[in-house]
Amino acid sequence: MRKTDLVRFKKIFTEQRDQILMNVTIVDENLMVRPEDKDEVDQANADIEQSMRMQLKNRETFTLRKITEALKRIDEGSYGACQSCEEPIELRRLQARPTTTLCIACKEEEEKMSATSILGHRFEFVH
Ligand SMILES: [Zn+2]
Repeated sequence: MRKTDLVRFKKIFTEQRDQILMNVTIVDENLMVRPEDKDEVDQANADIEQSMRMQLKNRETFTLRKITEALKRIDEGSYGACQSCEEPIELRRLQARPTTTLCIACKEEEEKMSATSILGHRFEFVH
C-alpha cells in the first residue's frame, strides 16, 4: 500500500477513535446522573434508558477495539494485507470497510463456510 494511502487511513482511524472516546465519555457522564426521588415508572424508564446506553457503549467499545487494532497494523506495516492469504486487500474494499482484515475472496470463503454450517445445522434440526 502507498504511504499516502496509509497516512489517509491513519487519519480516518484517529478521528474515529477520538469521536468514539468522546461519545463514551458523554455516555459515562449521563449514566452517573440518577435523580433520587423516582417512582417505579420513572425507575423502569431509567433502567431501559440505561441498558440502551450500555448497548451503545458496548458497540462503541467493539468498534474502538477494531480501530485500535487497525492503527496497530498500520504501525507494524501489516495494514491492508489479508490476514488469511496475506495478499493485499483491494483498496476499494478498505475504503468501504477500513477495519476489515480479509480480502474479498477470503471473506466470501468465510461467509460460504458459515452459511454451510447454518444449513447443516438446519438439516439436522429437520430430521
Ligand atoms: Zn485473502
